[in-house]
Amino acid sequence: MSASQEPKPDTFDLYDLRVEVICPRGERILCGAKEGDNFILQGEMLHLPDGQGFSIYSLGAILPLLAAKQRETHPHDWMSTDAEIACLDPNCKSRLKIVRTGLRTFSHAEVTSVPLLASTSIDG
Ligand SMILES: [Zn+2]
Repeated sequence: MSASQEPKPDTFDLYDLRVEVICPRGERILCGAKEGDNFILQGEMLHLPDGQGFSIYSLGAILPLLAAKQRETHPHDWMSTDAEIACLDPNCKSRLKIVRTGLRTFSHAEVTSVPLLASTSIDG
């Protein structure tokens, strides 16, 4: 194998995420969400479908979890099993479901100016 075919030594993988709104039938929804509203997160970039909005309060409820959900987690970790997050408004019954949709590979050098340290090598 030539050097150009070998994976870059500084790569890492993150899950792409899709966040979907779930609105229980018959319940009053207070955050402007509609069943099936969604967004996609690829790396640090959030993509909304054309013309669709998303409540900043709903975003606030899930924002702390997204970076963790993008990363591989232990199968016993609740972060691996739990995917539905309640709306931030205690009177709203909408939920936000975080779905891992696939892995995307990034280069450390392309996402930060901080150099890799020899001690951070996964080989020890
Ligand atoms: Zn809501």
